[in-house]
Amino acid sequence: MIRRTASRFGVIADVHSNLQALQAVLDYLEAESVSEIWCLGDVVGYGGDPEACAILVRERCAGTVRGNHDAALVEPRFRAWFNPHARAAVERQADVVSEETVRWLARLPSAIELSDVLLIHASADDPDGFPYVLDSGDAEHELSVLAARWTFYGHTHVPAAWRLDPEGRVHAERSTDSRLGLDRPGRYLLNPGAVGQPRDGDTRAACAVFERDPPRLEFVRVEYDVAAAQLAIRRARMPEIEATRLAEGR
Ligand code: ZN
Repeated sequence: MIRRTASRFGVIADVHSNLQALQAVLDYLEAESVSEIWCLGDVVGYGGDPEACAILVRERCAGTVRGNHDAALVEPRFRAWFNPHARAAVERQADVVSEETVRWLARLPSAIELSDVLLIHASADDPDGFPYVLDSGDAEHELSVLAARWTFYGHTHVPAAWRLDPEGRVHAERSTDSRLGLDRPGRYLLNPGAVGQPRDGDTRAACAVFERDPPRLEFVRVEYDVAAAQLAIRRARMPEIEATRLAEGR
């Protein structure tokens, strides 16, 4: 089913069981009065509060696509490419989340189409392989199979904006300005960054606000209680690296 989105909506990705970061981002988006919030997946994995995050995302988001950690919690075959600490975290979480959350994760779609907007976690070309769009070559490959004017993705935990122009050239559009116009010719591939485990050296939670008229995206960073998220990780007996990396944004 293809539905239209609101003219102004929030986009979140890679929550990774970080309840403190998720609450901070949802509070921000609520104060901004966005009419809906969409989630690009990886609600679970890594952090201390998978169940609470899954409940909150179910309640507050208009829709969620399936990330590789969401898939891996439900289906062990998706853990094959995980490093040992990521696998340990998701195995532990599979034992503690509710049956309702498992059923919800199992039903998440790999893509949501909203007229001229597409939502994915990693790749429309290879939805079960979860490749990373890290550079302009990766972006060119992905944009060559995308039809939507604006596609949102997560997975890398790094904010990014790519544009494929009508001549087939890819441009890195992200500037130091947090607001980005999205009205140039061609198709866009946009990453809001990670809510719960940023990897761009900025420890603050990331999200984005999309406006249709005129089309533009605001990249947002929100302070949250990193120490409380670290404590939750240690209490849940997740691998220690998941706690230390939050203080580094790596
Ligand atoms: Zn992720």
